[in-house]
Amino acid sequence: MNEKVRCLIIGSGPAGYTAAIYTSRANLSPILYEGMQPGGQLTTTNEVENFPGYPTGITGPELMEDLRKQAERFGAEIRFGMATATDLSSAPYKVTIDGEKTIEAETIIISTGATAKYLGLPDEQKYAGSGVSACATCDGFFYRKMTVAVVGGGDTACEEATYLAGLASKVYLIVRKDFLRASKIMQERVTSNPKIEVLFEHETLGLTGEKVVQGADLVKRRGQADEEKVHIDIDGFFLAIGHKPNSDIFKPWIETDKVGYIKTISGTPRTKVPGVFASGDVSDPHYRQAITAAGTGCQAAIEAERYLSEKGL
Ligand code: NDP
Repeated sequence: MNEKVRCLIIGSGPAGYTAAIYTSRANLSPILYEGMQPGGQLTTTNEVENFPGYPTGITGPELMEDLRKQAERFGAEIRFGMATATDLSSAPYKVTIDGEKTIEAETIIISTGATAKYLGLPDEQKYAGSGVSACATCDGFFYRKMTVAVVGGGDTACEEATYLAGLASKVYLIVRKDFLRASKIMQERVTSNPKIEVLFEHETLGLTGEKVVQGADLVKRRGQADEEKVHIDIDGFFLAIGHKPNSDIFKPWIETDKVGYIKTISGTPRTKVPGVFASGDVSDPHYRQAITAAGTGCQAAIEAERYLSEKGL
């Protein structure tokens, strides 16, 4: 028989855990499925310096562990498992977990976050786990005193390059434009670091190496009269070019934008399906911060509570 719940939370980043804190305190007996990466993207971040309440900073994994414990303290049930399919045609909504079990939920809070993007080069697959990574804090340790490259010009790329410079002997930052999109403070950290060399207007064509990454073939100023092929010797290749929202299983029922971000009713976490709410990075193409994710998780929880009470459920 299907398990029936009043509130199902899918995802365990700041949005999901905050929704769990609020819904458990409101006696909704929420069940939260953690997904593939318990704790979400922040578990791969080193130091979080901008989450209010931590004047000296906190590591991503510690912050997520605190949020999890806070949710459990009020009775949220946190389970390991992944939502693999949904049927949101009518309430109670059906969510399949790990392709096996079905949960029937009166309300759903979607907090599935976003996943790192890759360039789409066949070599990224070829060298997966052998020099290619999308997480410096997870894998940087393996490249101590080696040479690595980071692709991207945003805050993530600058943060990862700076982090890797603390371990590696040299870091190339491969930027396709002639400027960094990152915030000023992050740019300064990169440009003032003698171990980081920024390669502006460079794109990656492919990777080289016997069994593991040993180099990258780049092109400088592609399509220009002075286009130039460049080869760099590297041991690790890190992607930091943005993220894809994890919304695929909801797409038959819920509207998304062309990138895949779930569309919510302006200023609220409500989707067009009554009782189904979206919070955090899966519905946020603009801010994508831990604190904004936590804020929308709180909003979704309050909405779920009001929805259930209006329905007398
Ligand atoms: P962004 O979307 O901000 O930046 C992505 C970068 O990758 C851009 O420089 C982009 O280039 C480049 N890029 C995208 N696709 C390709 C490609 N195919 N080939 C080469 N380069 C590519 O993503 P981030 O993950 O950096 O940041 C996301 C959000 O999270 C931002 O709002 C950021 O401010 C925030 N953030 C904040 C942090 C903090 O405050 N500590 C830390 C990390 C992220 P182009 O500029 O040419 O488009």
